[in-house]
Amino acid sequence: MTKGESITRRTVLKKSGLAIATVVMPIPIKTIPNNSEMKEKNEFDVIIIGGSYSGLSAAMALGRSLKKVLIIDAGDPCNKQTPHSHNFLTQDGKTPAEIASLAREQVLKYKTVSLLNDIAIYGTKTNEIFEIRTRLGELFLGKKLIFSTGIKDIMPKIKGFAACWGISMIHCPYCHGYEFNGQKTGIMSNGDSAFHYAQLVNNLTDDLTILTSGKANFTEAQRIKLASHNIDVIEAEIIAVEHEKGMVEKIVFNDGTKVQFDAIYGSRPFEHNSEIPMLLGCELTEQGYLKVDDMQRTSVKGIFACGDITTPMRSVANAVYTGGLAGAALNMELTTTTELF
Ligand SMILES: Cc1cc2nc3c(=O)[nH]c(=O)nc-3n(C[C@H](O)[C@H](O)[C@H](O)COP(=O)(O)OP(=O)(O)OC[C@H]3O[C@@H](n4cnc5c(N)ncnc54)[C@H](O)[C@@H]3O)c2cc1C
Repeated sequence: MTKGESITRRTVLKKSGLAIATVVMPIPIKTIPNNSEMKEKNEFDVIIIGGSYSGLSAAMALGRSLKKVLIIDAGDPCNKQTPHSHNFLTQDGKTPAEIASLAREQVLKYKTVSLLNDIAIYGTKTNEIFEIRTRLGELFLGKKLIFSTGIKDIMPKIKGFAACWGISMIHCPYCHGYEFNGQKTGIMSNGDSAFHYAQLVNNLTDDLTILTSGKANFTEAQRIKLASHNIDVIEAEIIAVEHEKGMVEKIVFNDGTKVQFDAIYGSRPFEHNSEIPMLLGCELTEQGYLKVDDMQRTSVKGIFACGDITTPMRSVANAVYTGGLAGAALNMELTTTTELF
């Protein structure tokens, strides 16, 4: 492995296979040597699993502190389908890939940082050292771990929905709302969540409709408020989304009607891309995120986490912020505990 360079082996990553790969027990491709046989090249101060915005940000803080860092990244960030990323200073309107590529270039200039394109499939802790095994059969040892593996949005079984996700089916008004201002907009949600979206985006358009896809579940006060802002509610079940290259054209309902829309808001349930933090004992919050303290420490000593797996405040800016904080806090922990300064 060349320090400061990306390893070029291609990871065979089927989109649907990532979560599964991280749950099932690993089948080591190579014979795993014991600790004493490990070569120094496979030993790191910190192993960062997930090398998108949050993981790279953590790596930058650690690389600038001359810590020996390995980033393992499967190369499958959650925002890959969105044509342009917004609301991140200096990079507004760039493609997600452009932002990630520039970040990788800058981080890998630090000679103590290496990046491996692979999938971490198993982790364990022996004698205060973490062992991480990968899909390609590698075994790496780290004094500390950072998880920045992100989350996967679970798509509904509505034909056409997934193809529009991140293009005209949007979860975040700050990321993509401006681009659809003044246009015919739907909110695919119900109850408090739908009402919250309505409050957030009401000023962006005069043409707002809530699509509950089932019986509406609003309080009387919410109904009055929605009506006072001329926000219609359609309760018919949604069965399909007609679109052109991800741009919504019509929502199709089970009663045979079709209604034209330009954009639809809605959030999705999620699952973790990697189960390794949970296998290592990291606790989750009630909402299902990794529980971290104000320095991005998880509930397991020596394991930090950052980015989307730790918070519902989902944005590139927040991923970069929490990554930088995890890197700095972990660097301090390495200095004070491992190196006994
Ligand atoms: C459709 C969509 C559009 C968005 N648009 C915007 C926007 O315009 N502006 C904005 O600020 N935010 C936007 N966001 C939010 C933003 O993309 C996320 O907050 C950000 O990507 C989170 O960064 P992350 O590093 O935590 O995770 P991710 O970017 O999701 O990256 C996680 C990385 O970890 C890797 N990984 C996972 N498991 C493993 C494993 N076991 N081994 C190795 N690697 C692994 C993945 O392959 C991936 O590379 C959008 C999100 C979505 C879903």
